[in-house]
Amino acid sequence: MSQIINFSYLIAAVLFIVGLKNLSSPKTAPRGNMLGAIGMLIAVVVTLLDKGVVSYGWIFIAVIVGSGIGAYMAKTVQMTNMPQMVAIFNGFGGGASLLVAGAAYLEMSQVFNQGGEVPGLQWDIALILSALIGAVTLTGSVVAFGKLQGIVDEQAVAIPKLFIKSLGIALGICALLVIADPFDMGLFFLLVIVGSLVLGVLLVMPIGGADMPVVIALLNSYSGLAAAATGFVLHNNGLIIGGSLVGASGLILTNIMCKAMNRSLANVLFGGAIVSDTDKAAIPGKEFYEGKVKQADPEEVAMILENAQSVVFVPGYGLAVAQAQHANQELGKLLQERNIQVRHAIHPVAGRMPGHMNVLLAEAEVPYEQMVEMDAINPDFSRTDVVIILGANDVVNPAARDDPKSPIYGMPILDVDQAKTVFIVKRSLSPGFAGIPNQLFINENSLMVFGDAKDVLQKMIQAIKEL
Ligand code: NDP
Repeated sequence: MSQIINFSYLIAAVLFIVGLKNLSSPKTAPRGNMLGAIGMLIAVVVTLLDKGVVSYGWIFIAVIVGSGIGAYMAKTVQMTNMPQMVAIFNGFGGGASLLVAGAAYLEMSQVFNQGGEVPGLQWDIALILSALIGAVTLTGSVVAFGKLQGIVDEQAVAIPKLFIKSLGIALGICALLVIADPFDMGLFFLLVIVGSLVLGVLLVMPIGGADMPVVIALLNSYSGLAAAATGFVLHNNGLIIGGSLVGASGLILTNIMCKAMNRSLANVLFGGAIVSDTDKAAIPGKEFYEGKVKQADPEEVAMILENAQSVVFVPGYGLAVAQAQHANQELGKLLQERNIQVRHAIHPVAGRMPGHMNVLLAEAEVPYEQMVEMDAINPDFSRTDVVIILGANDVVNPAARDDPKSPIYGMPILDVDQAKTVFIVKRSLSPGFAGIPNQLFINENSLMVFGDAKDVLQKMIQAIKEL
């Protein structure tokens, strides 16, 4: 039986890996998701067949309740609320690892008290790691959820000497572990859990709302590591493999996002706001734009579009806020019907979560071949007639490329300023997440089209149809 179980875990692991590979492209992502889900189903079913299961009653109830809640949330969640759903699900994963560690601890201390044989040091380490990482993930994710949902203040909260405090708690936990005898340490074990729960809050509280996706990717990785440690506690190979895959992929994603923002992970975690108070004082005010901004209305844009041969849309966070993806798709289709080349330039951190723009555009059935990643489209901007920026700001700010004094200097950007004409659709001249002005808005070849992205796109569609 154990061979069948391990063989099934192997099949599940292969499905997870092939599924992950498929997730790397929007086209194959639904298949990847399905393969991962089948792998998980196999893993769950064989685990339930294990001889260690004493009673199925509670498991059955938990499966029904959990599946019901999961299905309801997946069906009802808004696309813009997806990051908080991922955040809270990570938290549940960490919480589950913590609970399993607690149960395993209670069971083994009973065996120990009755003079029975208890597992060795390796098991103790796995147990503590499962509880520690699980607890940090739980409270960290709850805070992340609260910030994204607007329940907790979104701003970066300065906790003085945060790094030292976190380090102190982490060292305290390590010290407890060294002095404690694993099965004789009731209070110590509790202290480790309480310390880890506090650590989770301290680590996430100072981070601003807009940096939260990076933190979520990191917490996702933690939840995987906690699950892998739980796998060692339970001697479950499926959990070890699945947890390690989540841990590794979460770390890779965190790294990709940090690179795309040109920030180190330490800066995201301990740096507070992206723009420090000293930087803020140096940021130019309203005078930056005064008398230098040119404007166009949707009808004028439509006329220029009629004569263009190539158009690139640049979606940003504002597109998501306005829910303008369907109008964007409709305008793109209209232009294509007029033999105009249409593409969508995707910046890796445009929006507020990884892959935000890909998901939105895919939802509106924008063809995958029209979505072009930053590195592939950048050399093409100089040959592009019209760029239409839809609620994007930082990811098209030339200061990131040209101004060494800019707080976002070094962040890779879409080189839209090199196109013949650039239209920027947004409601005002307010800054984006980084809080800094954008030179692009006053460039010679730029025109602002003020308004909500969806409204403006609908007016453009109307105007093109009437031409
Ligand atoms: P920005 O935050 O730079 O800009 C968004 C713009 O959208 C704003 O300037 C706003 O201007 C405009 N906007 C808001 N609502 C609307 C609306 N209804 N219609 C039209 N425009 C609207 O977004 P970007 O996508 O350019 O950049 C993403 C930023 O987020 C980067 O700084 C990145 O580092 C950061 N980030 C991204 C992460 C990710 O995973 N994607 C993770 C962490 C950070 P106005 O108010 O005038 O309309």
